[in-house]
Amino acid sequence: RDLPADPENANTRRQVLDACYSRVSPTPVIKPQRVAYSREVAELLDLSDEVCASEHFAHVFTGNQLAEGMESYATCYGGHQFGNWAGQLGDGRAINLGEIINQRGERWALQLKGAGPTPYSRNADGLAVLRSSIREFLCSEAMYHLGVPTTRALSLMLTGESVVRDMFYNGNPQAELGAVVCRVAPSFTRFGHFQICTARNDFALLKQLADYTIRTDFPHLDANAPDVYSQWFSEVCRRTAEMIVHWQRVGFVHGVMNTDNMSILGLTIDYGPYGWLENYDPNWTPNTTDAKDHRYRYGHQPQIAFWNLTQLANAIYPLIEATKPLQDALNGYVEVFEQGWQAMMASKLGLASYQAETDDDLSADLLKLLEYAETDMTLFFRHLARIKTDAASLDKTDDELLMPLLPSYYVPEQLTHAYTTQMGAWLRRYIQRVQNNPYNDDARRLAMNAVNPKYVLRNYLAQLAIDKAEQGDFSVVEALLELLRHPYDEQPDNETYAAKRPDWARQRAGCSMLSCSS
Ligand code: AMP
Ligand code: MG
Ligand code: MG
Repeated sequence: RDLPADPENANTRRQVLDACYSRVSPTPVIKPQRVAYSREVAELLDLSDEVCASEHFAHVFTGNQLAEGMESYATCYGGHQFGNWAGQLGDGRAINLGEIINQRGERWALQLKGAGPTPYSRNADGLAVLRSSIREFLCSEAMYHLGVPTTRALSLMLTGESVVRDMFYNGNPQAELGAVVCRVAPSFTRFGHFQICTARNDFALLKQLADYTIRTDFPHLDANAPDVYSQWFSEVCRRTAEMIVHWQRVGFVHGVMNTDNMSILGLTIDYGPYGWLENYDPNWTPNTTDAKDHRYRYGHQPQIAFWNLTQLANAIYPLIEATKPLQDALNGYVEVFEQGWQAMMASKLGLASYQAETDDDLSADLLKLLEYAETDMTLFFRHLARIKTDAASLDKTDDELLMPLLPSYYVPEQLTHAYTTQMGAWLRRYIQRVQNNPYNDDARRLAMNAVNPKYVLRNYLAQLAIDKAEQGDFSVVEALLELLRHPYDEQPDNETYAAKRPDWARQRAGCSMLSCSS
C-alpha cells in the first residue's frame, strides 16, 4: 500500500513507488440518477431490485457514499501503449470499492469508473461522460450474453455534474453529462500491474503480487509447486487465446489493446473506443488515435495479444529465471489460438469438424470474398445458415445461389459479374462440403445460429441510445440492454435492430470512429 506524504490529499497525482495501490476517495457528486442497471449482475451481488432502485444505491454507485465495509482504492500499473513503454499509468479514473463474496461463495470485485481523480490520473480529470459510459455499460453486458469472457457492468449512473470533453465529433470542447459505471469482475488485475514492478526493479513486490494473484485468482494452481509461475503464465496464455478467438468470432474490435488493457484472467476489459465489424474488413479499427498505423485492427488482434503476452513474459521473467517455460507457454498461445480459430470457423460455417485439407482454403477464400464486396459479417453468417444444401442446389445458377445472401451486402446492385461467379463457385464448394456433415440443414442452421449472433451492439445502435439518453430519454438504452440479452435468438419484434449500418451512420463521427479518453 502507498502511504502518501500528505494523507489529507490522498488523491494527489504522483508516482507511487513500493506499492500496488493507494487509498483514495471518490469525489462527491451533485445529483446521482440511475440510468440503467443489469439485473443479472445485481443478482450476482445478491442485490434485490428494491435495493437497486434505492437512493442509497444511487449514492454508493456514483461514489457519494461508501457502503458498510467498503474501502476504496486505486491501483498502480504501467503498460505499453501502442508498442511503447509508457511508465506508470494506473487507475486514473477507476476506483475500487472492495470485493463481495456472494451467497454462492463467488468473489466479485467492484470498481467505479469516472468517480474522480486518483494519484494515477496524470493530466486528466478522472471523470467519464455519459456517451462513453453507455457504450461501456451496454457492451460489457452484450459481450457476456454472447459468451465472450468479459468484465461486467452493474450500473450506469448520471452524476449531475458536467464534464468538459474535446469532442472531435462536434469540433469544439463541450460540456457533457458526467456518468459513472460500476464494473464488476473477479479481478481487475492487468498485465501492466506486473510490468510496472519489473520496470522499477521491484522484484519483491512483483513476487508478492504474483503470489497474491495465484492464491486469489488461480486458486486451483498449487502455489507450492516449483513451476507454479510457469503453470500460471501458461494459463494466462491459454485464456487470452480463447478470448481472442471469441472476439474474432463475433467481430469485436477492442481498439486499444495496450498491455494495461489486458486482463490477467483473460477477460475483455476497458471498453474504450471499441467497435463491431459491420462490413467485413480485417484492416478496420474504430480508434481515431490509431488511424494511421491501424495497429489494433480486427485482423491484427491475435498477433497483438501474442506481443502483449511476450511483454508479460518479460515482466515475470525474474520469477522464473528461465526462458524455456515462458517460450513454451507462448507457443501454447499459438496452438490454442490456431485450434480454437479452426473450431470456431468450422462452427460458424456449420461444419461438424474442421478438416484442414478442405477447410483451410474454404475459409480463407470466403474471408477474401467477404472483403471484396462490402458484406455485413453478422448478417452474412445468419443468411448462410438458411441456404439449402440438397443435391439439387448444386444445379442452381450463380445468381440463384447468391439470392438468399443478397440482404447481407451493402450495395447488392453493384456486385460484379466476376464476384458473382466466384461467390457462386464458393457456395457450390460449401454445399458439397456440408453434404459430408452428419446432420441435415435444419440441424446445421440451429448449430450456426448458436455461434453466429443475430444481434450485436452495432456502432450506430449505441449512437441511437446515446442521442436519446443525452435528451434524458433512456428507453433505447433499456431496449438494447434487453435485446442483447438474447443475441442469438430470432426476435421478430426487433428486426430493425438487426439492420445493417444505415447511410447516415457511415459518415457521422462517433458512429464508428472514437477516440481513447472520452
Ligand atoms: P485507456 O486508454 O483508457 O486504457 O487509458 C490509459 C490510461 O489513462 C489509464 O491509466 C487510465 O486510467 C487513464 N485515463 C483515461 N482517461 C482518463 C481520465 N478521464 N482521467 C484520468 N485518467 C484517465
Ligand atoms: Mg485502460
Ligand atoms: Mg479506457
